[in-house]
Amino acid sequence: MSLNLDKIEIEFPCPNCGFSNKASLQQIRLGEIVICSGCHNNIKLVDEDASTQRAIERIKESFKDLKRTIEKINRR
Ligand SMILES: [Zn+2]
Repeated sequence: MSLNLDKIEIEFPCPNCGFSNKASLQQIRLGEIVICSGCHNNIKLVDEDASTQRAIERIKESFKDLKRTIEKINRR
């Protein structure tokens, strides 16, 4: 089971105008700059306290659990 978490997109509000923008987890992880679709301001994506990285780790863990469950079921 391969899982590309970098492709997951999240919505976040522009700090300037509040417009809801989308960014991929990869963009956030890399701290890229996105342009707001509402006001065309540059928004620096900052992964504060590495929360995105922690969220990714949590998602990976839950997928591992899922895989274990699938394996257990298959053995019966
Ligand atoms: Zn904006």
